[in-house]
Amino acid sequence: MTRAIEISLAARCWAASELLRRAVSAELVGKSRISADSEVCRIRVDGVFVEVPCSRHLTPGKFRNASVFGVRVAQADGSAPSSVAGSGTESDPLRFSDDLVGLTFAMLNRLEELKPVHFDPWGRFPVELSAAYRSDMVDRPIVDEYAEALRAAVRSVRPRIAGRQSGVSYFMTHDIDNVGVPFRLTTSAGHILRRGNALAFAQDIGSRLGVGVPARWRGLQHLLREGKQRDLRLNFYFKFSGPTSHDSGYDLRAPVFKRYLTAIEDAGHEAGIHPGYFTMGDEPALSEEIRRFREIFGRSPHGGRQHYLRWTPKSWGEWERAGLRYDSSVGWPTLPGFRAGTAVPYHPWNFEADAPYRLVEVPLVFMDTSAFDDLHLSGSEAISVAAEFIEKCRTVGGVFTTLWHNCRVIDSEHSFAFRGTANLIRELPCYEVNEC
Ligand SMILES: [Zn+2]
Repeated sequence: MTRAIEISLAARCWAASELLRRAVSAELVGKSRISADSEVCRIRVDGVFVEVPCSRHLTPGKFRNASVFGVRVAQADGSAPSSVAGSGTESDPLRFSDDLVGLTFAMLNRLEELKPVHFDPWGRFPVELSAAYRSDMVDRPIVDEYAEALRAAVRSVRPRIAGRQSGVSYFMTHDIDNVGVPFRLTTSAGHILRRGNALAFAQDIGSRLGVGVPARWRGLQHLLREGKQRDLRLNFYFKFSGPTSHDSGYDLRAPVFKRYLTAIEDAGHEAGIHPGYFTMGDEPALSEEIRRFREIFGRSPHGGRQHYLRWTPKSWGEWERAGLRYDSSVGWPTLPGFRAGTAVPYHPWNFEADAPYRLVEVPLVFMDTSAFDDLHLSGSEAISVAAEFIEKCRTVGGVFTTLWHNCRVIDSEHSFAFRGTANLIRELPCYEVNEC
């Protein structure tokens, strides 16, 4: 975000409504009223009047330096924030002093990523440049915490007001980057050279000689098996890009795949799309990959995730125009946490239409590769961190969205962590994308 961005009245009301639906029950949201003028958003919920300041322009300085950004606005004991004044009547509304609406808008729409100046080697916005990282709160769903503060304020004058339904649901996803077909000696040798997995190398050689299937394909079978044992619903995101420097280029039309793909959908799991490395910003390429998906599955994909998490806020528009219903790319590539400041799926804001997208964002919270490759956790530690994030999501009534790669669960420590995490979520409800 290099210059001030104007936030329309409709956009401010949308951000206030995103706060409100995280704060109170859906029934109360339905009966509430929200309006905005040039300086404040006014919320009326269950007869309580609330005013939240909201300026028309957001600038990088305001976003990064907002006093409220790095502090806990919701009190630990659930009482109203001390900075809130007023009695909640029409003539003396509850008044917040901080621009929670503007910060909510900025976080949910990733405004700081609209025009980044620096990228990581994969062309992504680095977490280290984010306001959340600088404020040491990547691991906090800050927008959901603002909503807690709003709820606490309203409860201070309406103690029995119904809050948002609590509890956590899970969304288990698998990016299928490589299935070991076609055979490539260099990638198979990587099993040994990079991760010391001789068995996986032997499995690849065996499949080349007509014995069994390659290790990475076994990884997918492993996920299916473990998911079935726990009655989990899984989402497999397949690739349809040709081979490139960053895409393995497997071709799902190969006969070997057919019965497995049928089995995935017959078991109630979902197949989605994992668009290739170079599709970011390339709508024709994205559409072509969706066409290939349709060729295989006989239907359009509902959603998926960008390969390498190569995503920008513009990707939402690209995905919506391509007919996709949801995206789950908004997570940090190198850290678990809340890239959009929330664990609650939402419809992001479409600046061109001055209205929300139809597309749903299901933010990614916890990914295997960041736990192992970036944080260098052991399997047990990864399970503990996953458990912590499940609790964070539970507190705010959110969705624990997690990503486990078939290419990686072929390693024993990784498989151990996957099974441990699967055990943590086995009793939870599965998130349905159309719930948003
Ligand atoms: Zn990928």
